[in-house]
Amino acid sequence: MANPVENVNVLHATQVVIEEALKRLGFSEEMYELLKEPLRLLTVRIPVRMDDGKVKVFTGYRAQHNDAVGPTKGGVRFHPDVNEDEVKALSMWMSIKCGIVDLPYGGGKGGIICDPRQMSFRELERLSRGYVRAISQLVGPTKDIPAPDVMTNSQIMAWMMDEYSRIREFDAPGFITGKPLVLGGSHGRETATAKGVTIAINKALEKQGIPLEGAKVVIQGFGNAGSYLSKFMHESGAKVVGISDVHGGLYDPDGLDIEYLLDRRDSFGAVTNLFQNRLPGKEILEQECDILVPAAVENQITSENAGRIRAKIIVEAANGPTTLEATKILTERGVFLVPDVLANAGGVVVSYFEWVQNNQGYYWTEDEVHAKLQDVMEMAFENVYNVHITRSVDMRLAAYMIGVRKMAEAARFRGWV
Ligand code: GLU
Repeated sequence: MANPVENVNVLHATQVVIEEALKRLGFSEEMYELLKEPLRLLTVRIPVRMDDGKVKVFTGYRAQHNDAVGPTKGGVRFHPDVNEDEVKALSMWMSIKCGIVDLPYGGGKGGIICDPRQMSFRELERLSRGYVRAISQLVGPTKDIPAPDVMTNSQIMAWMMDEYSRIREFDAPGFITGKPLVLGGSHGRETATAKGVTIAINKALEKQGIPLEGAKVVIQGFGNAGSYLSKFMHESGAKVVGISDVHGGLYDPDGLDIEYLLDRRDSFGAVTNLFQNRLPGKEILEQECDILVPAAVENQITSENAGRIRAKIIVEAANGPTTLEATKILTERGVFLVPDVLANAGGVVVSYFEWVQNNQGYYWTEDEVHAKLQDVMEMAFENVYNVHITRSVDMRLAAYMIGVRKMAEAARFRGWV
């Protein structure tokens, strides 16, 4: 039986690794006391007039983990399972992530308990604007900068930016990233998470001595990260043998017709409902492959199924897809795991580029963005890998040791600890 705590409490799991990382780096217990929870968590209630004339009140959150390094940064998630501990953990992962890729940010995260698949376009607009009105005191281009996450997109960022600009009475593109290009978005932001994961996969294959050409890839989740990743993997000569979405999975050892699947997916990433022979639930994770990419939500690989994973390499495109117990089992079995805070950092890296471009009012070409992203991701991977080898720790702990260091040092210089 899986341990229920292991499966549900992402906040606790994050605290365990942060504590271990700080200890290994020689920081005091007081530093852990400071970093074990976000500095701020705002809970808001958002009344929204629905299309049928009735008012529905939604609950939302914004967590700011730590702003010792700079303003906090992180996405906003629209999902029925959003909860306080999840938003807190997600904000802490953003801090670690920003540390690994050396951005001048701390971590933040937001979420609204809702199901956008059941809402109309106008209802979503009213909810997005209501959320910004509710959190406006706490956020801003030099305070806390939101972005897309699970089931939010550039349209939602546009409404949020417009609402914030109206409240402040000036145009504030730097308030939020992941905007449409015409509103100050950056080239390459839409595909950035998947591009970053692609770079991480290439580096992992290189370290493991496996060629990309013909490598079998399974991707769980067909949202922003999963769908673009399937495209990039397919284009680069790897063989995408499995994908999945909320309805189930598709697996073909000879490779799937990725172009068809991309063409038919809906805006929330559902496509397997068009097929009859679907693998149920999480079974896609256990199929034969070289590289497994969980690109959906938390707690997918647990102590219950870790023993049945057949991949040689796992690259976490989702945040928190593997529990600590599962990480241990996989490491013992010799599976090479590239943790979320490193693997999916490409999204926030290009968000940072977008914010820099907004602040200077000068915009870069797509090639410039890609070249800079490539440099940052490769450097981050090498740094984490070196700590993994020289300190004999798994890749997750190595990533946390790098990710937490700058924040802890900044807090110490500020005299907080
Ligand atoms: N939501 C993304 C993440 O989890 C991107 C955050 C951002 O761009 O600020 O990393």
